[in-house]
Amino acid sequence: MVNIEAYQSIVKELATTGTSLVAVSKTKPIEDIMELYELGQRDFGENYVQELVDKKAVLPDDINWHFIGHLQSNKVKQIIPFVYLIHGVDSYKLLEEINKQSLKCGSVVDCLLQVHIAEEETKFGFDEKELTYLFEEKLFELKNIRIIGLMGMSTLTDDTHKIRYEFEKLKRLYDRYSVFKAINFKLSVISMGMSGDYQIAIEEGSTMVRIGSLLFGKRD
Ligand SMILES: *Cc1c(COP(=O)(O)O)cnc(C)c1O
Repeated sequence: MVNIEAYQSIVKELATTGTSLVAVSKTKPIEDIMELYELGQRDFGENYVQELVDKKAVLPDDINWHFIGHLQSNKVKQIIPFVYLIHGVDSYKLLEEINKQSLKCGSVVDCLLQVHIAEEETKFGFDEKELTYLFEEKLFELKNIRIIGLMGMSTLTDDTHKIRYEFEKLKRLYDRYSVFKAINFKLSVISMGMSGDYQIAIEEGSTMVRIGSLLFGKRD
């Protein structure tokens, strides 16, 4: 069930800092998405390629579809024609594939690089060394992608100090790499913060939060 009150209060809260909201609708039905759409929400996030393709086919054209999940190279081609922003780009191989498919479509696709800030090994993302190598040696080859920001996920924990520390780390990297500019690289987005930690993320400089369960209820 969609929590309209929560939506409205979050929108209000985000307006004070100019933070944008990606409503994470994975596993949730079309009707729920339409409910928020009717209230003016246009940015929605999905984690699974097939689910995203199916939803895109039946929902209004002016929705900005964010892919926020772990993207497999062999599925890139399905979302390139319409995706608005790919959040979780976590390898050079994936960037190359996005570039290749975008070239085929004659488009330039906006991407965020996922940075590994959590302590959990299971989370995806570049580390600092890989990022530097990518920026200095590799990026210029990819003309059909545009890196517009960084994305990160904190450790799943109740320890708010730890979460804050991890978000702070992402903001620091963002500031450091912001000075680096190229035709396909100009940072303006820090995608961090979910239902459980978005307030901390905003305090630490997030410009885009990805919120699911607070809006749509718990997932199965
Ligand atoms: C599912 C998901 C979210 C939303 O999580 P909630 O805790 O339901 O707000 C945000 N970001 C990513 C990458 C996700 O996979």
